Amino acid sequence: MSQSLAVTAYVGLGANLGEPVQALQQALHALSSSAGVSALRSSGFYRSAPLGAGGPDFINAVAQLTTTLSAPDLLGVLHCVESAAGRQRPYRNAPRTLDLDLLLYGHARMDWPVLTVPHPRMWQRAFVLKPLSEIAPDLVPEAALAAVAGQSVERLH
Ligand code: ADP
Ligand code: MG
Repeated sequence: MSQSLAVTAYVGLGANLGEPVQALQQALHALSSSAGVSALRSSGFYRSAPLGAGGPDFINAVAQLTTTLSAPDLLGVLHCVESAAGRQRPYRNAPRTLDLDLLLYGHARMDWPVLTVPHPRMWQRAFVLKPLSEIAPDLVPEAALAAVAGQSVERLH
């Protein structure tokens, strides 16, 4: 019966090609209407300078959702939504029409090549921590936000 247990998960969204705001809005809609996903809540949208990559600024957000899917199945849904947005992977850190990362899956810890949770780089990224702290302040200690304060991330109004 473990598959039917609902888990709270957090997904990081980012895009810097095409129409990023529209891509994030469509992705949130696609995720919230996916089978096994409910109660989706999104942070506001943020603008960030690319880290370790070229190209235009990113638009980022973090979504909280409740899911009865396993973590690998939820990652599969994220990849489907990325593909529907025309995501291509020409090289590492390439500009992208949509990137969806599984940040947290309940309290689970997984360390497989295809899926590592908590997401291994989330604590180094202001574009994850700022929107995450907006919707789940208890998950982001002040010290974690202070550690990434030098990165340029601004909330869109
Ligand atoms: P990145 O987001 O690091 O720029 P990609 O989106 O192309 O790069 O992801 C590369 C691979 O990372 C994916 O094929 C996926 O299987 C793997 N991966 C491992 N852990 C995670 C996670 N927590 N969320 C999303 N992808 C992950
Ligand atoms: Mg990704």
